[in-house]
This record gives sequence, C-alpha cells and structure tokens, in this order.
Amino acid sequence: MNPPLIIGAGHNGLTTAFYLARAGLRPIVLERRGIVGGSAITEELAPGYRCPTLAHATGPMRASVVRDMQLEKRGVEFVRPDPRLVALAPDGRALVFSNDISRTTDAIRAFSAKDAERYPDFCATMTRLGRFLGTLLESTPPALDTPAAGELWDLLKTGRQFRALGRQDSFRLLRWGPMAVADLVAEWFETDLLQAAIAARGIFGSAQGPWSAGTGAALLLNTAGDPAPGGSSVMVKGGPGVLTSAMAEAAREAGAEIRTNAPVVRVLARNGHAAGVVLEDGTEIVATSVISNADPRRTLLSLVDPVDLDPGFMIKARNYRCPGTVAKVNLALRALPAFHGVANPGDLRGRVHIGPGIDYLERAFDASKYGEISPEPYLDITLPTLHDPSLAPEGRHVMSVYMQFAPYKLADGQSWADGRRILTANVMRTLERYAPGMEQRVEHCQVITPMDLETTYGLTGGHILHGEPSLDQLFTMRPILGWARYRTPIKGLYLCGAGTHPGGGITAGSGQNAAREIIKDLKR
Ligand SMILES: Cc1cc2nc3c(=O)[nH]c(=O)nc-3n(C[C@H](O)[C@H](O)[C@H](O)COP(=O)(O)OP(=O)(O)OC[C@H]3O[C@@H](n4cnc5c(N)ncnc54)[C@H](O)[C@@H]3O)c2cc1C
Repeated sequence: MNPPLIIGAGHNGLTTAFYLARAGLRPIVLERRGIVGGSAITEELAPGYRCPTLAHATGPMRASVVRDMQLEKRGVEFVRPDPRLVALAPDGRALVFSNDISRTTDAIRAFSAKDAERYPDFCATMTRLGRFLGTLLESTPPALDTPAAGELWDLLKTGRQFRALGRQDSFRLLRWGPMAVADLVAEWFETDLLQAAIAARGIFGSAQGPWSAGTGAALLLNTAGDPAPGGSSVMVKGGPGVLTSAMAEAAREAGAEIRTNAPVVRVLARNGHAAGVVLEDGTEIVATSVISNADPRRTLLSLVDPVDLDPGFMIKARNYRCPGTVAKVNLALRALPAFHGVANPGDLRGRVHIGPGIDYLERAFDASKYGEISPEPYLDITLPTLHDPSLAPEGRHVMSVYMQFAPYKLADGQSWADGRRILTANVMRTLERYAPGMEQRVEHCQVITPMDLETTYGLTGGHILHGEPSLDQLFTMRPILGWARYRTPIKGLYLCGAGTHPGGGITAGSGQNAAREIIKDLKR
C-alpha cells in the first residue's frame, strides 16, 4: 500500500500524522510553507524579536493528545497564568479574572454586588454543561442516513448523559445554543464589562456580533475545552511554534515523513477514488489515501478537479461560509505598556481584553458587515515575553494583538494596501486610549490582514477557524450536512483540519477525531 498523504502540517495535520504513524501507516506530510505549524507558529518579528505570529493562546489542547505525543517530555511548557484575563473599561478601571473563583467574585463585587452573587453559579453551570459537551466534541458526528449499530449505542449513551444533566441544565442547553450570546449573558449579569468579556468567546474568530442568533452555541462549545468565563488562557512558553515543533518531532519519531516547501496544487482522483497529488513543481505522488489539513473550500473547490465531484455537492461546498474578520498586529516594544487600571504588571501575564461592552462589540462587528474596518475594534492581547523573556532583547517585549473585526472584502473596491494603513491606525489609536504612551514604546510593527492570512498562511477567505462556527456549520453540519465524518464523496479523500468537527482553535480535536476514522477505514 502507498503511504497516506497529508496535505498541510498545521497542528491538526501533525496530530493525524502522529496517530496514523503510530498505527503503522507511515504517512507523508506535504506542507506548502517552509515551516510546520500552520496558524500555530512563532516567528521572527524583527531582528532579535520573536512572537506568536498568529494564534497566541491554545484552545486548550486535548489532554490525551498532549499525553500520547509526550509533548511535555519534548520540552513544551504550558503556562496557565493567574490572573487569566484582564478586561479593561473605558473609565480607567479593570476587571481581573483570576483562576480562583472567589477572588474573581471579589473583583466583580466592585462593579456589582448582584453580579458577584451570581458568578459562582454561572461558573458551576458552565462547568457542568462543558463536561457534557466535551463528550460530543470527542466523538465523530453520527451518520445521518445509516447510523451503524455502534453509533446508535453512542447516541443512546449521549442521550443518557443529557438526561443526567437534569431538567434545568438540559433545558438551558437547548435554549442557550440558538440564542444570541448577548441575551445569554444578560440573563446572568448586569455589568456591561463583565457581559462583554464573557460574550466575546461566542464571537471569537467569526463574522458574527454578540446579537447574532446562535452565538450562544459557540460560547457553550468553547466551555467544553475550558469552562472558565473569558476563555482559555493556556499558552505555550516560547509561543505555539514550540508546540508544533514538538508535535512534528513526535510524528516523525512515530514514523511519519514531513516535507516542507511542498505545496500541493491538485488532488488526483480516478473512478471516484483518491489517486494521489500533484505538487507545484509538477511532481506526482501516487496514494490511495489523501488527507487534507487545508480548509474545506481550498480542498474541495481548488485542489480537487471539479469533474471529480457531483455538481450538487459542489454547490454545498461553495455555500460553506468562510469570510474572515480577523487581523493580527504584532509589536516589538522597548518597554511594557502601562494599561489603565492595571497597577501590577504581573496581571498582564494572561490575556488582556479590550471590548468593554456588548454594544461596543456589536458596533465593531457592524463595521465589518459593510466592508469597513472597525474604528474601535475588539482586541485580545498577550505579552509572550512575560513568560519567556528570551523572545526579545533584554528589557524589551513583544506584544501579540488579535484584532476583530477586519473584513476580508473591503467596501467600494478599497484595496488592502489602504486597508492596512487604516487598520494599523485604528488598532494603535485603541491601544493608546487604554495604554497611554503606547506609540512611543513601539520599535517595530507587523500587520497581518485577512488577505495576508489567505495568501501567506493558506487560510481561504482569511478565516482563522477554516469556516464560520455558526449553528448551520457545526457538528453534523461541519463542514457540510451529511459529510461531517471526515470523509468526502471521493473515497480515500479525507479532511482533518479545523473546518471539521469539533472545529477551530488549537485543540488537536479535529486531527485526533479524523485519525480515528481514517485508521478504521484503512485497517478494514
Ligand atoms: C490570527 C489568528 C489568531 C488565532 N488565535 C487563536 C487563539 O488565540 N487561540 C486558539 O485556540 N486558536 C486561535 N486561532 C485559531 C487556530 O490557530 C486554528 O484554528 C488552528 O491552528 C487550525 O489548525 P489546523 O491544523 O486545522 O489548520 P492550519 O493551522 O491552518 O494549518 C493548515 C496547514 O495546511 C497548509 N496548507 C494549506 N494548503 C496547502 C496546500 N495546498 N499544500 C500544502 N499545504 C497546505 C497550510 O500552510 C497550513 O500549514 C487563531 C488563528 C489565527 C489565524
């Protein structure tokens, strides 16, 4: 048997490669860039400065993958900062989310005694719901037409776990998923800053605002990985590139071969079965199993020849939505920023949230709906040098600024050459407002637009999650209703990236689930 081919060495592709190799299948990974990691990379930002180029926190990673790949033994140091999140208010105050619920409750009390009283119950509820949803994320979505006996059993087990949630929690789950996350948080809390810090998780990476229906589901699904309000702040010392280098090492050791600078331009199919790939330099590699870590649109609409797919399926693939809304600004700093309301620089070891109210977040989204770059964007900020000073020259820092919303397609034919300038100005103005003196601290600024995410990093539409995490593109519908089990209509062609269930974020969930299904097929 020819070795299976994996297109892309993102963290999901590396995870699939590892499990396939461990099953004795000796996969070959073909990565278009010169480095592995996809969106989970650490690169030089300016001479002497290294930074998480794209993602700066993990989803977090699935514990079983960390264990199986022995990532900690390979030198990966996961950092769980405390406080985990600081939400900045425009009036100069800050709400500090500690890992300790009672300390966070005390911090909330300064804003609202009523909210402080409700916070522990909210945390406990999210933990219970997250635990239930966690089992769904680890399973392969059921086949809709002909579920196998084993799947029916799994569904029955899931039904039992759902009932075990009890009446109140099971009703909450059913009701909250389709809701707008703004309504969900308003049922619990009255403080706008607190509402927004929690709701941001329901819109992270998507083309939706907090008032969009179904953003409740995104919040709930994220709690499965980490139930703490405000989201996962688990980082990797040295940035996510350290993680994916270790993952590549684990995959190689298990028997996978990884080739970089090997862009695939065509997936070959014969008689409805995968037959291999063609690389950009014309090299043809024969294989009966091809697994794509590239996003679903790229795989199905540009790598596969349209004649190999049914027109009905092609229409569904074309309707898969992945309009990017995120940009990244990485800064080399001569000194730490001085954020309003944060007296202790140690409090900046987690994530810093700028998006101080539900209406603020919605307005930031509104702009992107009409092709405009948010004048007041939602920012999620980390300072990786606080965990690893070696990322910058002594006394200097790097700052990783995740920016939402910047639409992939700008209005009125504006080009991203102009867009880049506007985006930089909007981000710097917003930072300056919350950290006066910021601009003087900047030595170097790297701006990555949604267009760069597509052209440099291979993300179609610049979508950081390989497609919208909306209700119609989740679980049995990710990426396409009836094709959520990592297989495609071309036999032997599989998907293993963030465009499959359970979706985006550095979790390795898609890569591990896909490997399980592929190994079942190949061992059959
Ligand atoms: C700016 C940004 C910020 C983010 N922030 C966070 C965060 O803080 N926390 C979090 O958990 N997640 C975050 N994410 C999301 C997270 O990084 C992704 O969901 C996740 O890394 C996707 O992993 P993947 O392996 O599925 O795909 P990718 O990482 O996209 O990897 C796909 C790989 O396939 C390769 N490829 C594509 N086409 C071809 C081809 N034709 N031939 C060969 N190779 C090909 C690509 O080069 C790439 O290496 C962020 C993402 C971005 C872009």
